[in-house]
Amino acid sequence: MSVQDQLHRYLFENVAVRGELVNVSHTWQEIIKNHDYPAPVQTLLGELLVATSLLTATLKFDGDITVQLQGDGPLSLAVINGNNRQELRGVARVKGDIPADSTLKSMVGTGYLAITISPEKGERYQGVVGLEGDTLAACLEDYFMRSEQLPTRLFIRTNEKGAAGILLQVLPAQDTQTEDFNHLATLTETVKSEELIDLPATDVLWRLYHQEEATVFDPQPVSFKCTCSRERCGEVLKTLPQHEVDEIIEEDGQVDMHCDYCGTHYVYDAVDIAAIRKGGAEGENSDSIH
Ligand SMILES: [Zn+2]
Repeated sequence: MSVQDQLHRYLFENVAVRGELVNVSHTWQEIIKNHDYPAPVQTLLGELLVATSLLTATLKFDGDITVQLQGDGPLSLAVINGNNRQELRGVARVKGDIPADSTLKSMVGTGYLAITISPEKGERYQGVVGLEGDTLAACLEDYFMRSEQLPTRLFIRTNEKGAAGILLQVLPAQDTQTEDFNHLATLTETVKSEELIDLPATDVLWRLYHQEEATVFDPQPVSFKCTCSRERCGEVLKTLPQHEVDEIIEEDGQVDMHCDYCGTHYVYDAVDIAAIRKGGAEGENSDSIH
């Protein structure tokens, strides 16, 4: 496992294609620890984490991306949220039995993949695709074809030790030959889990592309970070029916809210609640995960 999770961007010199290679092994462990997720859910969260990191790295502005799987299967929700600083968090909700040999479809059931892009300044955008592909990577490639019309390939690898991945994308407004792009994709496809997860990125890139000319840029650190706070949690508390909150206060003397992403508890007593209600309805946060 790498000392620190990192994202590397690279560009091919002779073909108008860009690449990203990310290792999120440590971040993945942070997300799944303290949760009793079945093994296939842990793996899927690892894949979702790789995908979200690669997607946020394509952002050309400050903001964040939420990649969410939702359906009527035993895994009712799996979501990863990450921003342009490569700070990521995620959570899953399991409602039924998930055997060890579960597939994406058997876990999610009839469902969809939603990608929400939230710039810090500007309009939020959401793209939704049905789960047509058998893998998360296939579903995301489908999303890119529909939303950005940019040929994109994702290569996601996980094992018991870690999670990592590669994204290849044709540069916009360039006359990239399909066969050139396919050639790079074929080379990338050969990458093994243990190579991508255990080896330094520069070694992996050299192994894959030593016959191509590629420029590799300085890496960006990737980390687990939850953006929850007492204030944001208070905003959510304010949206709950008042009589229900009052009942809890009457019975327990306090309301204990906890963040699904990081497990932090925020406790509010009657005085805190009164202050929150007095505070008015500022903030337009619609973070529904709490
Ligand atoms: Zn949190």
